[in-house]
Amino acid sequence: HNHIDHATPEKAMAAIAADDTHAHLPDYETFASYAADGGYAVLKDLRETGNWETVQEKVLASGLRGLGGAGFPSGKKWGFVRANAGPRYMAVNGDEGEPGTFKDRWYLERTPHLFLEGMLIAAWAVEAEKIFLYMRDEYPAVLEILRREIAALEAANIVPAGYIDLRRGAGAYICGEESAMIESIEGKRGLPRHRPPFVAQVGIFGRPTLVHNVETLHWVARICREGPEVMSSTELNGRKGLRSYSVSGRVAAPGMYLLAAGSTITDVIAAAGGMAAGHVFKAYQPGGPSSGLLPASMNDIPLDFDTLQPHGSFIGSAAVIVLSESDSARAAALNMLRFFEDESCGQCTPCRVGCEKAVKLMQAERWDTGLLEELSSAMVDASICGLGQAAPNPIRMVIKHFPEEV
Ligand code: SF4
Repeated sequence: HNHIDHATPEKAMAAIAADDTHAHLPDYETFASYAADGGYAVLKDLRETGNWETVQEKVLASGLRGLGGAGFPSGKKWGFVRANAGPRYMAVNGDEGEPGTFKDRWYLERTPHLFLEGMLIAAWAVEAEKIFLYMRDEYPAVLEILRREIAALEAANIVPAGYIDLRRGAGAYICGEESAMIESIEGKRGLPRHRPPFVAQVGIFGRPTLVHNVETLHWVARICREGPEVMSSTELNGRKGLRSYSVSGRVAAPGMYLLAAGSTITDVIAAAGGMAAGHVFKAYQPGGPSSGLLPASMNDIPLDFDTLQPHGSFIGSAAVIVLSESDSARAAALNMLRFFEDESCGQCTPCRVGCEKAVKLMQAERWDTGLLEELSSAMVDASICGLGQAAPNPIRMVIKHFPEEV
């Protein structure tokens, strides 16, 4: 995957843009300005006299949880990885492919060094011998920024040459699943692995591997620089912390909004300038297509980890898509299932065949809800990874909340 052929015009264009030194780059914070503002002082201190457990305590106290989708407490991972003998590796998941998600890109195009310092702090904490930075190839500006800034880190002797290995994904959604990403890093097809063993035990080339998402590491740096309060001091609706919502759909001002983790969809729409002109709020995807669709009537649920679970949903990477009365919930669900059908890696039957059958059944004038429910159960129970297990969520939620449409 590191040396892919650019088979599509879009990929070729992206490659040209990435290789063009005159390509327009966003106005981001460079190494020089970040370092002048005290950047990398924390990392240097830690490397000289730091104790990883003290940093872990800080991260745990902040309440930071993995922001790639699964929401695992970030500090805990370090202990799991360290429990296994070295050499250890680190992998960063920058393959931001969840439809509607663009928060990692938002941070990388503005403050890449907060992410890079957070990454080096986490690598230090688990004594990683090498970091594989797996980036979405469809972000040419981000790739160019990272190439330049990693070179600056090497020139400043903050990392040895080659310590950070920047890899390009090849556009497969499933390679955002951590074990599929690891397979891809090893040069193989991106097929999710069975667990156990977990990647913290048996990861890249069989070595214990720490995997973090880009945004998680941005917060690790901020927590180390500013203290756990930067995350934990915000409170809303009984929830602590902050959440980066990628907001799109029928809102006046789509974009990335950093809000309290206890925000409801009402708060999120208000932050995005309200509904687009002429549109009436009907439904929303709270966190990527796997989180399904909730009706506008359910507008008082904090969009945080765990709070959506009783409603058969989850916040995932907080990719919020707002639908209006001009949209069909049924068509949106079909679109989501078509996406899963395309992106299923094909390794296991319940997902490979299940997605295809679901798409066929959802094209019928009237949905056979009994059969769709049976199919959904089989997919949830028997799929290897989260893609197949969560793919039926949009189906189930449309049957439940928008029965008149099906
Ligand atoms: Fe592949 Fe789907 Fe099975 Fe996951 S659930 S391993 S994506 S076929």
